[in-house]
Formats: sequence, C-alpha cells, structure tokens
Amino acid sequence: MKFLWILLLFSYVEAKEQLTPSPDQALDMLLEGNAHFVKGEITHCSYITEAKDALLENQTPFAAIVGCSDSRVPPELIFDRGLGELFVVRDAGNVIGPIEMDSVEFAVAKLKVPLVVVIGHQNCSAVKAALLGKDHVPELDQILPLIEAALKPCKMHTGDKLVRAVECNVRKGVETLKASPTIAPFLAKKTVKIVGAYFDISSGKVSLLDLGQGN
Ligand SMILES: [Zn+2]
Repeated sequence: MKFLWILLLFSYVEAKEQLTPSPDQALDMLLEGNAHFVKGEITHCSYITEAKDALLENQTPFAAIVGCSDSRVPPELIFDRGLGELFVVRDAGNVIGPIEMDSVEFAVAKLKVPLVVVIGHQNCSAVKAALLGKDHVPELDQILPLIEAALKPCKMHTGDKLVRAVECNVRKGVETLKASPTIAPFLAKKTVKIVGAYFDISSGKVSLLDLGQGN
C-alpha cells in the first residue's frame, strides 16, 4: 500500500513537472514554432477551437516575449503559438522601461515563465529613428532616449549599421532585465533564461543572438 502511495506521488510530481518546460525546452518550442511559420505551416490558426474554457481562470504561458509593436512581427504568429502560451509585451523599439520591466517581472515571478525573449527585427523604424536623431520622430520622445542609450556603447563599424543597432538594442534589453532584483534570483536558480533574438522579415526566420550571455 505504501509503495502504491509513493508511486502515485511520483507520478503526480512527474506530471506537474511536465506541465512546465525547462528554459531550454521552452526555447526549442519557440524555434520549432518559427520553423512552422517559415514553411507556411501554421498550426495555431483558430483560437475558437483551442481550450478556451480551460484558460478562463488561469494562464500558464511558457515564455514571455518583449517585441516591437511593428505590425509585421506579431509573436504568436512568428512562433506559431496559441492562446495562453505566450506572455507578450510590445512597444515601438522593444525597449525596457518601467512598464515593460514590471510586466516581465510579473511573468517571471508570478506566472513562472521559464523563458524570456527580447526580440528585435529587420528594418525597425524606431531603431532607425534613433540612428537619425529624435527630431525625425518627435512622437517617440520617451522611447528614443532608451534606444539611444543602448546604442552609445555599440560598435557599428562592421556590416549593416541598422542590423547592428537592432542587435545592440536587444542586448541592452536583455542586460536591463537581467539586472532586475526580482528576476535575478530566478536566473541564479536557473529556472528562467533570458535570450536575445532577431526576426528577419524577408525570410520569416528568428535567429538567437550571441550576446555572450551566461544564462
Ligand atoms: Zn520595430
């Protein structure tokens, strides 16, 4: 009898663990979804037929995405994920200000997402505006200083200047999130991973950026 209880307990713990993917499993799930998107084989095409009743009370997203508001880079589509799977924070230029930081901290600390992705993209108008100077797009007066600060230490001598700038802006976003006192303990326990990525509009492909990250 005692053996049966131990067996049941073990099965319960195992089932619970299976519900939350590890940070690396979560990353594989996103990249697999992007491969579907690139091939034009989207699987999550109808929210109506998905488990909407099960999602009414709770959400258990497996990744938080900080992306640009640009209409060409919707995370659910480019990662081929459905309702309840991604916790998405978007603004022009995928910057991390106080509001975005709060949102990601909530996703990590309360929703226990194992993965955070900061994703920039090809031909980002907000980053382009930061390169040109804020007088070109006065509407982005709160966002551009954040991007400009990200670009200051950036080496943009090689390759496409805008691509390098987008990468630098992503790097800054990742660094800012990693410096959060709320997120740091989760990084230390390795229950969460933060990565930077780049979305190429022309191919539809998401590439992970090598930011020299320890996590
Ligand atoms: Zn953009």
